[in-house]
Amino acid sequence: MTPLGRLAPTPSGLLHLGNARSFLLAWLWARGNVLLRIEDIDKPRCKPEFTKAAIEDLEWLALVATGVRNASDGTATAAFQSTRTVLYRNHLQSLAQRGRAYPCTCTRRDIEEASSAPHGDEGVIYPGTCRGKWRDAAHAKADTGREPAWRFLWDGPPVVFHDELHGDVTVDPATLGDFVLWRRDDLPSYQLAVAVDDALQGITQVLRGRDLLFSTARQLAIQRALGLPSPAAWAHVPFIQDGTGRRMAKRDGDLSLRTLREHGADARRVTGFLAWTAGLIGKPEPATAKELVGEFRVQKLGRDDFVLAESHVDWLLNRDQ
Ligand code: GLU
Ligand code: ZN
Repeated sequence: MTPLGRLAPTPSGLLHLGNARSFLLAWLWARGNVLLRIEDIDKPRCKPEFTKAAIEDLEWLALVATGVRNASDGTATAAFQSTRTVLYRNHLQSLAQRGRAYPCTCTRRDIEEASSAPHGDEGVIYPGTCRGKWRDAAHAKADTGREPAWRFLWDGPPVVFHDELHGDVTVDPATLGDFVLWRRDDLPSYQLAVAVDDALQGITQVLRGRDLLFSTARQLAIQRALGLPSPAAWAHVPFIQDGTGRRMAKRDGDLSLRTLREHGADARRVTGFLAWTAGLIGKPEPATAKELVGEFRVQKLGRDDFVLAESHVDWLLNRDQ
């Protein structure tokens, strides 16, 4: 079976080196057979100019074909989540009919104050307060005066999957809790949109940042509850840190591809550098993604975050060192 991966940028800021590395690795693992999926469902955070910038950056790195930008005219090789809300809503309804989704009117405060609320790896675990309370959103609203969110009713046995870097991962639903499928502001959640898309778009392998390791369990649980197919392989890769001990983040205006490019960085340098930081080649040297396909093996990928130093930036910009 031909592998199909995906590049799934969220256009809430400019892409930085960490994003670029994950996209390069996803591309290499799938030997270029990737779907570009713009994860722009979070309307308050996403901006069209960031979508445009992300596509330009990926074209620059030769990870998507030039012309993808015109996807909205019907020559689509990109999928936009913002155009698929009806589809996500249908799947929410289907989960509700199967008794796997329920309305929840709790505020963040309510959840923190619920005396029994334990803390998990990702903060407070939702204690299931609204499970079984209401049949539908209208009843929840009539009772509380609040617009409800919808949560996934997650019980049953642990979810087990194999990650190429983390080995066998076992996630007990009780350690993560019932998570949001549909937000109070009437938008689908990341978990629902990605679970539906990966299944319906025929994605066979997922490579993304290690922060999403546990989300794989959530997405598998949604797919199983809906009787949908799931990807067959996962790799959750380390971050690039900015030298202050933090992962790079779009919101901080960390070193963006755009900034590097404006300062004269060459795409082959950036690509070769990223491949080196990931453990694919022995030293940083300019290369294209295509040239690196032969070097890629998922087992070669490093497990540790890479810490970016000023000297690396000098190399990227081909400055005297
Ligand atoms: N859109 C997410 C991000 O940019 C990635 C989600 C995923 O790969 O599942 O961080
Ligand atoms: Zn609740």
